[in-house]
Amino acid sequence: MKDQKCYCCSDLEFSKCCQPVLNDHGKATSPEMLMRSRYTAYVVKDERHLLATWAPSTRPQSVALDKDQTKWLQLRIHDHTVDIGSGDTGEVDFQATFIAGDELCHMKERSRFICKKGFWYYLDGENSIEKKPINRKAVCPCGSGKKFKRCCLTG
Ligand SMILES: [Zn+2]
Ligand SMILES: [Zn+2]
Repeated sequence: MKDQKCYCCSDLEFSKCCQPVLNDHGKATSPEMLMRSRYTAYVVKDERHLLATWAPSTRPQSVALDKDQTKWLQLRIHDHTVDIGSGDTGEVDFQATFIAGDELCHMKERSRFICKKGFWYYLDGENSIEKKPINRKAVCPCGSGKKFKRCCLTG
């Protein structure tokens, strides 16, 4: 069986991208890698990883992923930086595309990350969400080139 492409849209195989990070937080050696693995954790509903990689100061009690109907379509990382001086803070600029209810949502966020004892954690972020009604005949936002209704809208 051919290996599956990673959910984070890196175009790498899952087993060589986010899977090792989901299994071992320490494998995320940059804010970007942690950001990718956290996006993937939302897709595969890995609450344990999300909570483990959240900075204790901002970590919620739980993330109700089991009741979550969000359908994640795409992650695009626009920019990622690590503070050169200290090396223990970083930021990632990204856009996540998803379907919530009958709306297509583009969420832009600039997330902040901190590093403690060699482990990166998500601290917080500022985001804005643009929502549009779903156009079933438009090209799928996941980038497949197929019509939306023949791609991510099915199933
Ligand atoms: Zn990945
Ligand atoms: Zn699609």
